[in-house]
Amino acid sequence: MDCIFCKIVNGEIPCYKIYEDDTVIAFLDVNPKSNGHTLIVPKEHTLDITTIDDNVLLHIFQIAKEIAKTLQNKLNIKGYTLAQNNGKPQEVKHFHLHIIPVYDNEEELIEVEEIYNKITQ
Ligand code: AMP
Repeated sequence: MDCIFCKIVNGEIPCYKIYEDDTVIAFLDVNPKSNGHTLIVPKEHTLDITTIDDNVLLHIFQIAKEIAKTLQNKLNIKGYTLAQNNGKPQEVKHFHLHIIPVYDNEEELIEVEEIYNKITQ
């Protein structure tokens, strides 16, 4: 299947991975809305909120809690927005949850690799 997130899950395309277990992978968005913008993706391909398994959905939100704490610890953020697109606004047709950090002032976007190093160091 020609799905970019399946290719990331399978290791065919590299990513800035910040978390992985048997069910999900989380990595930094390559075109971030803010520094530290993270995507949590189920490993098994599924389209959107209408098709995802309930247990997987719960697990994704449990992992979102942990990643949000990590972002708070590692970056100087003031909050974060969780977002999830379906249908027309959904660019990648493989379910994913966005965690989008919010800062005090509008921060200049810096290299994803630099943010990755801050989060994982
Ligand atoms: P959505 O509009 O909710 O489908 O968002 C898809 C997101 O995936 C966008 O924010 C893209 O920047 C991001 N994205 C697309 N390709 C990649 C990739 N190879 N690695 C990381 N993020 C990606």
